[in-house]
Amino acid sequence: MKNKATSIMVVDGSEVSRTIISRILHSEMENTRIATSGHGHEALAHLNEGRFDLITTALMLPDMDGLDLARAIRKSDTHHYTPIIVVSGDADTRLLREGFNAGVTDYFDKSLGYQAFVEFIKTFTRRNSGLVGKILYVEDSRTAAMVACHIMEKHGLKVTHTTSAEQALELLEQTRSGSAKEEDGFDIVITDFFLKGRLTGGDLLHAVRTRMHYSQQEMPVLVVTVADNEQKQAEVFHAGANDFVTKPIVEEILIARIRSLLLIKQQFNALKRQAEEMRRIAGTDSLTGVRSKRYLLDHGEAFMAEPDNHPIWALLMDIDHFKNINDKLGHITGDHVLAALGDLLNQSFTDDAIVVRFGGEEFAVILPRCGAREANAKAEVLRRKVEKLRPANVPVTISIGMASSIEHPDINLNRLLSLADKALYAAKARGRNCICIYSQHGVEYSSPAQPPHTGLTDADLSAVDSSGS
Ligand code: GH3
Ligand code: MG
Ligand code: MG
Ligand code: MG
Repeated sequence: MKNKATSIMVVDGSEVSRTIISRILHSEMENTRIATSGHGHEALAHLNEGRFDLITTALMLPDMDGLDLARAIRKSDTHHYTPIIVVSGDADTRLLREGFNAGVTDYFDKSLGYQAFVEFIKTFTRRNSGLVGKILYVEDSRTAAMVACHIMEKHGLKVTHTTSAEQALELLEQTRSGSAKEEDGFDIVITDFFLKGRLTGGDLLHAVRTRMHYSQQEMPVLVVTVADNEQKQAEVFHAGANDFVTKPIVEEILIARIRSLLLIKQQFNALKRQAEEMRRIAGTDSLTGVRSKRYLLDHGEAFMAEPDNHPIWALLMDIDHFKNINDKLGHITGDHVLAALGDLLNQSFTDDAIVVRFGGEEFAVILPRCGAREANAKAEVLRRKVEKLRPANVPVTISIGMASSIEHPDINLNRLLSLADKALYAAKARGRNCICIYSQHGVEYSSPAQPPHTGLTDADLSAVDSSGS
């Protein structure tokens, strides 16, 4: 956004009002120039001398009616298009009836107080100033382009100008394909309808909508047409234009159209970001940072169906005697242990594996493209790392059950996980802190059972063990 100072003219018969309003505006709005006038005629004289971005006036002035002042401003050369806000004691019916015709942009109810008035102005100027956006502008006439580029840049827009639809398409393809981030692309396209190349602006528009599949929200297109051709204007809407402007371009109209198209684009971006964030949140377990079960349900079957991923292994792991940790050290410590294990799992597997919090203190890893020996080694390395982890200084161990698609290439995810679960059950029965593998011949033990850690003393442990957990 260009940091051009905002100039505001405040017209009010009361000196006290003028002083208070300009004081609050000064202190709360950076980069703002404020001029005040007690009389309508004085205000008109000031307006002739300088350029203002916003004018506020009381409905009743000592020498003039506020609506008459608005009419006079609308007739002036310098402030024909400047927003005018009328401040009145109440929502005057006359204001509602005549205000629009008099050229009033908005009105403010004075009884809401000075602070509210300043907030109103702040919101108003934020909405109406500083356009932010990247424009792809296609215009084959250098003179016309120079004028329009100057206007757009003056309002803070970044403009890339090309003279043909072919060039424009090339630029759009570049920013669309692959790695281009949201901020690298264009926000809107403005194209002249008649272009000298083989393709017209209409062809460009058509390509943007049908070949590149950009919706009107994702890539708003504004078409520049000739003034007296209503047939053409209707046509550009059929071709998927959001709007049109006619030549010769009028600054205020062009900027107003761009503003509303940028708003559409910004809302589209905000929605897209929100949707991505929601997907990410739903797909991630917040405590442990690994994928959620939801993610596995959404993506697991497709992962299994991808031949490139085979052979696939499922490692199902469960913390040994975790209930004891909760019971003796508290749930918070239990949570710390889960979070640390999640971190370890995320670090231990590359992005092509799916690491999931499967249940309370159970995790699953779906390992693609992995032979039996390699899968075994990975599980054993993990088991040892957990043994050494001591999260929150608690000694912790896990039991792991494994199953693969090697003997059943068509196996589905549910079945694979239930085989791994059988192996996990066997690992628990074997004494915990060990790995079992499900195979054609039943469950095999992968490594000798190690003594399980529980984060508790031997006495605690024996008490719990004898209680049958
Ligand atoms: P085993 O070795 O047989 O797996 O014994 P265990 O105590 O680990 O198994 P059990 O299933 O009896 O206990 C699991 C416990 O995990 C019970 C539950 O309260 C706890 N748990 C589940 N989710 C969470 C969680 O998010 N935070 C904490 N702190 N505890 C959890
Ligand atoms: Mg042209
Ligand atoms: Mg469990
Ligand atoms: Mg457990």
